[in-house]
Amino acid sequence: MILGLNMNLCVIGAGVVGLTTALELQREFRNANITIVADRFEQDTCSDVAAGLFRPGTSFCGPTEDITRKWISDAYRYWDDIRKTEEASDAGVAQLSGYIFSSTDPAIVRNHYIEKVLPLYRSATESELKLCPGEWKYGSFFTTVLTECRLFQPWATKKFLRNGGQIVTEKIDGFPNLSGKYDVVVNCTGMGAKNLCGDHKLVPIRGQVIKVKASWVKTAFYADYDTYIIPGFQGVTLGGCRNFDSYNSEPCKHDSAAIRERCEALLPSLKGAPVIREAVGLRPHRDPVRVETELVEFANGRLKVVHNYGHGGYGVTTAPGTAIYATRLVSDVLKSNSKL
Ligand SMILES: Cc1cc2nc3c(=O)[nH]c(=O)nc-3n(C[C@H](O)[C@H](O)[C@H](O)COP(=O)(O)OP(=O)(O)OC[C@H]3O[C@@H](n4cnc5c(N)ncnc54)[C@H](O)[C@@H]3O)c2cc1C
Repeated sequence: MILGLNMNLCVIGAGVVGLTTALELQREFRNANITIVADRFEQDTCSDVAAGLFRPGTSFCGPTEDITRKWISDAYRYWDDIRKTEEASDAGVAQLSGYIFSSTDPAIVRNHYIEKVLPLYRSATESELKLCPGEWKYGSFFTTVLTECRLFQPWATKKFLRNGGQIVTEKIDGFPNLSGKYDVVVNCTGMGAKNLCGDHKLVPIRGQVIKVKASWVKTAFYADYDTYIIPGFQGVTLGGCRNFDSYNSEPCKHDSAAIRERCEALLPSLKGAPVIREAVGLRPHRDPVRVETELVEFANGRLKVVHNYGHGGYGVTTAPGTAIYATRLVSDVLKSNSKL
């Protein structure tokens, strides 16, 4: 097997996880035929709803702490490398700095995963704690990257097609449908894995955001009760909420009012900022995130599958890291030839 000659690989899913995985497979297996199969693209995915700030939650976890840290550092390098190219603005990637404030617990403003990965992560000074109204006792300031999926997904799709990849629009109801067509299938279906794999560990955490026009906001702010203000390429994202096990994909007027109230209290200059759109996404939460191989067997065949789903609220942050890891698993599966 030389650089994937005559090999057929499939990625199910065209969100940020599927696209970064497909590009990584193209990089690793230059001569392989690589197909993305998905039923929803770009603005119809959960990825499109994300503000896209690189900031994994401290509860984010892969199979081990070392692997999780590697995913995070690989992912940061991936985004930051794009950020330093001429293509950065087309790809929706930029550097962004911000504050996180809390009035309740110093642990909230710390982040053991990224304090050493980001170029800057430090305690906020006394005068910085007074930047926003509120009795902020604890705070951190950090510099990170932002990836706006509304730009990144079309950019990555074009790159994938330019590299010779193919895209098929189809809903996959079961792995047997793909049997005989592909040497390995990488499953990047996000919440779709719940039905596809019968995975009861996968739970939606519903999130709602409001995108507003407020071009004067150049700094990100996080505060207690899931309050965040994140400037991007196409407006400022105001959030948010985390509704565990909720499948409601429609904006809720009560959530909108609460988000607006909390964000305006944090940054009063947002009052009256016009709404661009409201959006809801179901974060595919799984503990741990599933990136592993499986030999799926059925009545008349078997299929080698590498799973890569369950990134919860941190899929934009970590997608390239798990993509690199999943690509190595694909390579191992191909080398082992049949057994997993
Ligand atoms: C409000 C909100 C804010 C967020 N903010 C951030 C943030 O700032 N930073 C961050 O890192 N993350 C953030 N996230 C989380 C992030 O959006 C998700 O972790 C990420 O989008 C998951 O990507 P995915 O590719 O796994 O899923 P998706 O984007 O949902 O893509 C899944 C793909 O799989 C396809 N698919 C599913 N089932 C099937 C099937 N049976 N057959 C064919 N195709 C199938 C779908 O069509 C789709 O193409 C946020 C999420 C929300 C909701």
